[in-house]
Amino acid sequence: MSDHDCLFCKIINKEIPSEFSYEDDSFVVFKDINPKAPVHLLIVPKKHIRSINDLTFEHRDIIADIFEVAKKMAINNNVDKSGYKLFFNVEKGGGQEIFHIHLHLIGGWKK
Ligand code: 5GP
Ligand code: ZN
Repeated sequence: MSDHDCLFCKIINKEIPSEFSYEDDSFVVFKDINPKAPVHLLIVPKKHIRSINDLTFEHRDIIADIFEVAKKMAINNNVDKSGYKLFFNVEKGGGQEIFHIHLHLIGGWKK
């Protein structure tokens, strides 16, 4: 399930102490260490999946549910009405630095 060399697996397994904004059976959410916006959260499936390119049919529940978590986080952080961006960086050329999939949620800019 987890990859011993993966930073996000270590965070999920609490080998690296981190504060979670949210946790359930399938996901953790925490703040990006280098925020690109006033609100910058990483929504991370607990299952180690290397990149979007590695998704298969068996991951379909994770991909459906991740957007439900994102919506919840937008409400909790009061950016649902003002608006926000959701994105995945895919592979090195797409800006992916951590090879454990995660959905970025950014928002909270002044109107
Ligand atoms: P990627 O570029 O892979 O899509 O996104 C990785 C993100 O993880 C980056 O925005 C980076 O700032 C963030 N990050 C890297 N290391 C850590 C860490 O140890 N803790 C937290 N909270 N975020 C991290
Ligand atoms: Zn991992």
